[in-house]
Amino acid sequence: MGCLSPILKPLLEWAKAIGEAIDNMRVKACAYCGSLAEQLDLEHVIPRCLYPSSKAKSKVQRLTVPACNQCNNGWSDDEAHFRNILLISGEPNQPVRDLWKTTALRSFEKVDGPRRLDDLFRQMKPVSTSAGNRHMVYPAQDERFMRVIRKIVRGLCHYHNVLSPVPDSRVSADVLKYIVPQEFLDEMSPYHREQDIFEYRFQVLNEPEIHSVWLLTFFERRKFIAWVSGPGDSLEDV
Ligand SMILES: [Zn+2]
Repeated sequence: MGCLSPILKPLLEWAKAIGEAIDNMRVKACAYCGSLAEQLDLEHVIPRCLYPSSKAKSKVQRLTVPACNQCNNGWSDDEAHFRNILLISGEPNQPVRDLWKTTALRSFEKVDGPRRLDDLFRQMKPVSTSAGNRHMVYPAQDERFMRVIRKIVRGLCHYHNVLSPVPDSRVSADVLKYIVPQEFLDEMSPYHREQDIFEYRFQVLNEPEIHSVWLLTFFERRKFIAWVSGPGDSLEDV
């Protein structure tokens, strides 16, 4: 071992330098389009507006990825809409109550508040049930909502270093309507960014038709499934 070290040492230093160069290269590419723009900002993978002020002191890391100006801009309106739809679609937990009473109600009082409320009401469809007439929301039919879901998956793909960049066209998503068998869940690595805000699991399959499957849960009860198509489907993105 001793006689190898004079050779090994420079080799290890070289390998370390290559590793750092690769890391730097990765940091410089936009997570969403892969562009090597000079100016890259850090974009929150999970919209910041999902976190009530009661989480301000939390030690749970908020995920960020590098994003170019073009990919970074124009999300805040859709993310606020995304939050509002999540808030009204199901049993509230404490963060949902906090957000509704503070951020959401305040946003409705602002100049563009009436439009935001209108955006929300448009997604509420009347249905008659045995308990009388009720209103339901169908997030999967709301393109602005689903665009944010797909963006979260694209950001997570970059963050977990499983694939980057992932174009929007390679992600599909839907409301999770079925119970996922436990053995399938066991195959997937679980993560969370505050358990009562956002939990997720994923599995990389790396098959020609499907790259990975993602299960996303917001506010404990709103569940979505997303999948990233494999290289077999991605000719249009080349
Ligand atoms: Zn970009």
